[in-house]
Amino acid sequence: MDEIFPNHPRAESLRIRKKLTEGMRAGMVVPEGLTAHGRGEAFDYLLGERTTELAREAAEAASAALLLASHPVISVNGNTAALVPKEVAELAEVTGAGVEVNLFHRSRERELLIAEHLKKHGCREVLGLEEENAVRIAEIQSERRRVDRRGIFSADVVLVPLEDGDRTEALQRMGKLVIAVDLNPLSRTARAARITIVDNVVRALPLLVEGCRRMRGMPREVLRGKVETFDNERNLRESLRLMCGRLRELFDSGEHLFK
Ligand code: ATP
Ligand code: MG
Repeated sequence: MDEIFPNHPRAESLRIRKKLTEGMRAGMVVPEGLTAHGRGEAFDYLLGERTTELAREAAEAASAALLLASHPVISVNGNTAALVPKEVAELAEVTGAGVEVNLFHRSRERELLIAEHLKKHGCREVLGLEEENAVRIAEIQSERRRVDRRGIFSADVVLVPLEDGDRTEALQRMGKLVIAVDLNPLSRTARAARITIVDNVVRALPLLVEGCRRMRGMPREVLRGKVETFDNERNLRESLRLMCGRLRELFDSGEHLFK
């Protein structure tokens, strides 16, 4: 495996890619996962590869929603398992959330590999594996319709990092509060979720863990206020505005290159 030099200007981005390619070699990540990551990377580039104040606000509301939930569940796919397995375990621990494997390109082998990887990184229990607990959500076309009756099916709050739009919409219609992590503020996922954190999942998950630890003792009314006052549409619009501004700055500072 090629070495990544720490002074390389894109070292962090290369490290993330390496985790994904290793995840693919291990059988957890599918090629489609790599291309989905590429779409995310393009938006991350525009964000400046950092957590914005807007993402912090969204993470604050999301942490409050997770702490208020009576049955929170974290839905995990191949990319999420490859990138942030330890943080998924930590977040489950601090919020009491269930962890469920839910795959678009589903195979028994991948499910088991991902579950094992999550357990190795500290997840106590992984849902979504047994056929006898599987329920199929009628509204979803893909294999992601299959959910665990003890997990996503009965959850009131679902965290769906790196989701696809169809399922986010379906889960919202089922009356669940959906929290998404998506670098693209224009995606259907970002628009359909109640709370979208426009940030890279590698930065957003630690932010949620920190937020939940910090706010754990807060009165429920205070937490409720944070969720109720969070305006997802506004947050997405401002995130897009921020990207436009940065693109303009990059254009201006690089204008001489195009003369
Ligand atoms: P949608 O189905 O919501 O309309 P889409 O079809 O454009 O979205 P998908 O291929 O379904 O996109 O899902 C990939 C999404 O995940 C993209 O929107 C991409 O921005 C986002 N994404 C990929 N990698 C990351 C990451 N590491 N952190 C955050 N978001 C990511
Ligand atoms: Mg999609």
